[in-house]
This record gives sequence, C-alpha cells and structure tokens, in this order.
Amino acid sequence: MRPATAVIDLAALRHNLAVAKARAGGARVVAVVKANGYGHGAARLLPALGAADMLGVACIEEALGLREAGAVQTILLMEGVFEADELPLCARLGFDIVVHEPGQIRMLEQARLDHPLAVWLKINTGMNRLGFRPEEVPAALDRLQGCVAVASGIRLMTHFASADEPSSPATREQIRRFAATAEGLGLERSFCNSAGLLAWPEAHAEWVRPGIMLYGVSPLEGRTGAEEGLRPVMTLETRLIAVREVRAGEAVGYAGTWRAEAPTRIGIAAMGYGDGYPRHAPSGTPVLVNGSEAPLAGRVSMDMLAIDLSGQPEARVGDPVILWGAGLPVETIAAAAGTIAYELLCGITGRVHVELR
Ligand code: PLP
Repeated sequence: MRPATAVIDLAALRHNLAVAKARAGGARVVAVVKANGYGHGAARLLPALGAADMLGVACIEEALGLREAGAVQTILLMEGVFEADELPLCARLGFDIVVHEPGQIRMLEQARLDHPLAVWLKINTGMNRLGFRPEEVPAALDRLQGCVAVASGIRLMTHFASADEPSSPATREQIRRFAATAEGLGLERSFCNSAGLLAWPEAHAEWVRPGIMLYGVSPLEGRTGAEEGLRPVMTLETRLIAVREVRAGEAVGYAGTWRAEAPTRIGIAAMGYGDGYPRHAPSGTPVLVNGSEAPLAGRVSMDMLAIDLSGQPEARVGDPVILWGAGLPVETIAAAAGTIAYELLCGITGRVHVELR
C-alpha cells in the first residue's frame, strides 16, 4: 500500500472541543464540520463531537451525510437552503437553517411543513458577503415571525471578517453593530468563529461557532494551535521510497530549481500535490524525517517530493516522514506555501489513506 496517510487523532479533537467549550464560558457550541470536517472526514469525527451542542455545515448534502452517519445533534446549514424543496427535509431531520437573503424568506412564507423549523437570521455587520443590513433586520424579522414554518424559533448571527487580527478595529465595529441590532429583541445571538472565540470574549453571547480551532489550528495571526493549548487532529505522513546521492552541481526535480552545492543525499517521499500537499511549498520548507526537521529540495511533484537529507546520514528507504501535524504545525507549512492552514486541511485528496488513532 502506498504509504501516504492522514492520521486522525480523535482524542485531540475531543480535547480541542473541551478547550473551545472552556474558553466559551457558558456559550453553547456549534462545532463547524463543513467541507467534510475541514478535510478530516466529517462522519468519522462524530464519536469525538458528542459534547458539541450543534453541528455546523454549509449545505443540506453535508447535513444528510452526517445524519446518515448517526449524528444526533441539530445541524445548522450555514448557507441555508438553495431550493424550497429542501425545507420539508430540514424540518423533518432537525436541520436549522441560516436565512441570509430575501428569496429564502419567500420560500419559508410559501412552505407548508409538518414540523416547524428554527432559523438563524444572518446580519451583515461588515463582511459584506451574506446577510441583511442592520436597517433591514426589523422587516426581515417581521416576515419571519409571520411564517408558520418558523414556529420553533429565530436566532441572530453574524460573521467576522478580521477577527484573526486582534488589533483590527473592524471586529470591534462589527460587534458594536451586531449588539446594537440585537438589543431589546430578546433573541439568542452568535457572533464568533474560532478567532472571535479566542480573542473577543466580550462577543461570546449565547452561541459560538468554532471550526479551525477544533482541528488544532490557531486562527490568530502569528500564533500556533499549541500556543492556544490545542492539539493537531490531522498528521499527514508517509515514508521515504528512495534515497539517492546527487553530485555537486546536479539539479533535483522539475525545472531543476534546486541544485546541490556539494554531494548530497536526497530522500524521495511518497507525497505530492496529487495528495493535497501544496505545490507552492518552496525548497527549504520543513518536513520531519524520523522526527527531525529536514528541508524540501526542489519542486513538489504530483506523487512525490524530494528532501535534502544532508543532516540525516542514517535516513534510509522506509523511514517515516511527517509533512504536518504532530511535531510540525500545519500553520508553518501554510505560511511557507503562501496559503492558510484551512486550505491545506480541506485539500487532502481521496487517494490519501485515513487512519484513526
Ligand atoms: N461560522 C461561519 C458562518 C463560517 O462560515 C465559518 C467558517 O468559515 C465558521 C463559523 C468557522 O470559522 P473558523 O474555522 O475560522 O472557526
């Protein structure tokens, strides 16, 4: 079997959820498991998510998959529904829906459902992606309150654009707008993603919606998950499948972007962009060979990458290589490749074996 493997540590996920709950104070937690649990496989995460008050996904397809896999909690569809015929299914299966635009209110007004639905009215406080502007909220609420389909409750939510930069005044302004809009309505509110939960305790309110921190990653600029007391859930690992000597002056890999200054041992590991490892990770990006750091040498190919083993004279074919996870924060690799940890985790492809540990 090709050794490229994503090892998923459910104990780490359980721990990170406990950290989120503790940091959230009394707020209830929507564990965000959209995009197949940020690439970890949402269904396989369920045994570690029992303490979550609700699960959050993007759309009904994701929610159906989780119900089939045995999820017992209410599941929140954070993009809401796209077609009216999704509504009866949501009502029957216990899916709350976000309502972010007038067409979705029209669908609810026309719906005749056997079970009532709970909706989360999304307020645009500055992200300018989804949601009603504060001045549009009273009319939207009026219409929702008039819907028979919405008998089981309305909550309010917003989403931060810049909570990962704790010094940004944008978040303070979003908090102010949302709090002012919600004031006096007596409805439960949700402001926070992971960054809000960690950096903006004054915005915890009744519900928080952490995603990335559950997977052990810090969303905050310049901080790692470990510094927040989190543990990596995914460790991406493989093995050396070849070890070779290159001579001084010889180049390695496509386009020969790395050249040996002296005779060098090069290890070839079975992991490439076809597995979700970022092609843009440059020479010098660290991996762990037998637990010690060694740098990439040359371009990442579809199925393989090359490692400069100068510092590891003992390394041989079959030795373990960690690309990120335990001992090597995915944040480090994301920074080297000019992206964010979210994209790397979500990008693991179906060819990578998954092992629960
Ligand atoms: N809430 C909403 C509406 C989201 O779209 C997301 C993810 O993008 C989250 C919460 C979780 O965000 P994070 O993974 O940064 O905690």
